[in-house]
Amino acid sequence: MKTVDEGIYADESFRDSLATIGEDGKRKWIYPKKPKGTFTNYRKIFGYSLFILFLVMPFLRINDEPVLLLNVIERHFSILGVVFWPQDFHLFLLAMITFILFVVVFTVIYGRIFCGWACPQTIFMELLFRPIEYWIEGDYKQQKALNDAPLSTTKFIKKSTKHITFFSLSFLISNVFLMYIMGTEAWLEMVTDNPFLHTSGLLLMLLFTAVFYGVYARFREQVCTAVCPYGRLQGVLLDKDSIVVAYDYVRGEPRGKINKWEKEPSTGDCVDCKLCIHVCPTGIDIRNGVQMECINCTACIDVCDEVMEKVHRPTGLIRYASENGIAKNMPFRWTKRVIAYSVVLFVLLSVITTLLATRPDIETSILRTPGMLYQEKAPGIYTNLYNIKIVNKTKKSFPLQFKLENKKGTIQAVGQFPTAESKSITDGALFIELAQEELKGLKTDVIVGVYRGDEKIEEIKTSFVGPAQY
Ligand code: SF4
Ligand code: SF4
Repeated sequence: MKTVDEGIYADESFRDSLATIGEDGKRKWIYPKKPKGTFTNYRKIFGYSLFILFLVMPFLRINDEPVLLLNVIERHFSILGVVFWPQDFHLFLLAMITFILFVVVFTVIYGRIFCGWACPQTIFMELLFRPIEYWIEGDYKQQKALNDAPLSTTKFIKKSTKHITFFSLSFLISNVFLMYIMGTEAWLEMVTDNPFLHTSGLLLMLLFTAVFYGVYARFREQVCTAVCPYGRLQGVLLDKDSIVVAYDYVRGEPRGKINKWEKEPSTGDCVDCKLCIHVCPTGIDIRNGVQMECINCTACIDVCDEVMEKVHRPTGLIRYASENGIAKNMPFRWTKRVIAYSVVLFVLLSVITTLLATRPDIETSILRTPGMLYQEKAPGIYTNLYNIKIVNKTKKSFPLQFKLENKKGTIQAVGQFPTAESKSITDGALFIELAQEELKGLKTDVIVGVYRGDEKIEEIKTSFVGPAQY
């Protein structure tokens, strides 16, 4: 029995170059055959559902907060209705690390299933832009013939129709993308208001449109094979137990055409029709084994199953399987690596859940104003000036009161005590006034209670500077 290490993949020279780059270093344009079959149908259902979700999600709210908002400009983030503030950066970072670890665990077990089924690049390219191309220009052979043909009225109409449609779709995607960054309200204001008041936002919209158009009209599979960091990581994430789209070389080799005069077939199940190569959007031959370029799109599974049905052989010559599953017929098993990753993931999830559940809605900081010492207001009476900052993460505004908790003295606002505005950071200043007998040397610990009406929200410890006592 041949394995990847000793058998059919002994010649690994195909890994030295990308399938989409010719020997002269120029781009080889891929004309993938239109896929059809069971997996393609399931992917369409799943992919179009995700696309609809992508379109409507900016308008969905949980607790009045966007389901997903990544406003990097104003540093306002909302994930599943949970709002993250700059003060919550540690939580956001932890959430990102947890997400990355989840992707790692998922990849170690299920390979690049995300790429084929849920990656926006694959969904947009294979389920939106590519079908439009098939619809306007025909299947792969017609597309190649059209590209090779000299300019004619038909070619001009087809090409311009395609590119106008691509640009319009890119414009739509760009606008939805902006809604995730700036929020739907700000987006609506930008597109309905005087454009000269929103030049940077509108320029960003055009830039995104140009990038999306460039990616889906020209750059295409190069995103997966040359840019995407997740694709690059596959080499270290996958092992021989990972489930990937794989060719069953045990069954398939030696490949060859069917000789109907042979009583006992001298070849394996692969009839070497090469349709799995023709259908591949990254232009690779899955029969060479697991490759970095494979985005697990399942198109080769469908086309090979169709061939197997035609030649009356069992389907599944290309299927979801692990290297150990094919070479040694081993079922999936939890390896030590998967268990270790899962334990870390569970710990991270527990930590983040606890931190989120105990996260305060209001956070106050009271710090002595830098560069200011004490003032002697009257003989034996001293004051310190403090800056206060209140982060109110709730949807209600309310006035605040401050009281000294461990000392006899007074707190006076500079102006008025501030109102903690909803979902905002409020600044203010106050004086603390203490008598000489309350002081303990140069620095005295002071505890300030922060009140919403009669309700104490939190206690803040700060220090009071007084004259040295001898
Ligand atoms: S589609 Fe199936 S039978 Fe045809 S070349 Fe590929 S693996 Fe072999
Ligand atoms: S090898 Fe198969 S699954 Fe991988 S990208 Fe090509 S067609 Fe898709």
